[in-house]
Amino acid sequence: MPELPEVETTRRGLLPHVEGQRVSSVLLRRPDLRWPIPPEVAELLPGQRIESIRRRAKYLLLDTHAGSALLHLGMSGSLRVLPANTPVRTHDHVDILFNSCSLGHQRVLRFNDPRRFGCLLWQPTNEVHPLLAGLGPEPLSDDFDGDHLFARSRGRSAPIKTFLMDQAVVVGVGNIYAAEALFIAGISPSRAAGSISRRRYQALADAVKAILTHAIERGGTTLRDFISPDGAPGYFEQELLVYSRGGLPCKRCGRLLKQALIGQRASVWCAHCQR
Ligand code: ZN
Repeated sequence: MPELPEVETTRRGLLPHVEGQRVSSVLLRRPDLRWPIPPEVAELLPGQRIESIRRRAKYLLLDTHAGSALLHLGMSGSLRVLPANTPVRTHDHVDILFNSCSLGHQRVLRFNDPRRFGCLLWQPTNEVHPLLAGLGPEPLSDDFDGDHLFARSRGRSAPIKTFLMDQAVVVGVGNIYAAEALFIAGISPSRAAGSISRRRYQALADAVKAILTHAIERGGTTLRDFISPDGAPGYFEQELLVYSRGGLPCKRCGRLLKQALIGQRASVWCAHCQR
């Protein structure tokens, strides 16, 4: 599943090709993805200029004066900017066509999603879509730090890993990055969130920021279904410290890594390095 770094990589890859473009038409090859595509997408988007592409959590927003197209890549979605005459492949569900440039070349923003867990929705101007309401701060923003985690965790008995993956606490820290950040911060993933000190939460917030920043710089993890805008996969997987390494030696102390389900999610950690 594309995680926050892949979505941010997608945003940065699309930005120079999409921002400032005017939409000429929208072609929906099916009426729905995970949810029905609302009529506003095809009715309001044509004629609008894409003012910006923003990311909120793992959603992308194409902002126009008429409102914003709200996209999620789901499990297997990808977005590519292509010449408009590029042959359609299986699972190419949506085309957002742009006006031709001065040389007569026309480009299309094409949404491919084999498993159709992605979505294309509409957020009216000056409204917040219900999917975006109630989300915690962005992990790379100044609003996310050790004090935030400490304050939100008081009285919480849930495992720290489950707490860290709660989108109301902080957005975009999925299973991979939660496991990696907890290893770097030296915190056991099963420890009760409410029992962790402010100092250790500062180390955890710093680890989350460092690892996400690094992953974005490297183009995200290598994921089977994910294709970055230029078609090149990231190569972060070889650098993973604990995620998917259960039973293998800890890269810090050499002891074998533990593996168990925590909050129904596969979790790997070092019982020596993480307390
Ligand atoms: Zn270790």
